[in-house]
Amino acid sequence: MAKRKIVTGNDPVLRTVCRPVGAVTPRIRELMDDMVETMRDANGVGLAAPQVGILRRVIVVEVEPGQVYMLADPEITASSGEQEGNEGCLSVPGESGCVRRPMNVTVKGTGPDGNPVTVEAEGFLARAFCHEIDHLDGILYTDKALYMNEPDAEEEENEKKPEKMSPAAYRKYKKNRKDR
Ligand SMILES: [Zn+2]
Repeated sequence: MAKRKIVTGNDPVLRTVCRPVGAVTPRIRELMDDMVETMRDANGVGLAAPQVGILRRVIVVEVEPGQVYMLADPEITASSGEQEGNEGCLSVPGESGCVRRPMNVTVKGTGPDGNPVTVEAEGFLARAFCHEIDHLDGILYTDKALYMNEPDAEEEENEKKPEKMSPAAYRKYKKNRKDR
């Protein structure tokens, strides 16, 4: 296994519809292993092949440590219910936002051994599959977010809004500004 570099930002590979895999070759199997290693190294709960620059329909998901799903050509064949919750993305570092997803999904695909796999996923696991499968169609969660969370809101605020400081801190702030 080898760690791969995670693509971030406005890279067009994150906006491209990926090609189906078809048969799981040793090369695809190696890609799956590398993706698991890369995801774990980055403390992620899922990763899609375009995030490591490969435009094929492959995802890995590991919400419960040790319970890892590696799927080629994953598809959501049924979904029900609704949930709203926070998501982040290894390709959009430092941000998070609230996304509405189905509460339950059935995911079908091909496993690393080439056999068909069906996963009945609920809650956060369902959310992770939806997020990763969206990547295969060039969709990021930021496209769907109901709202984005403020990054490190408190620290930023103290820096930018002196009225939230204590009077002593405010005086020091003004003095420092004049001295500059
Ligand atoms: Zn992502």
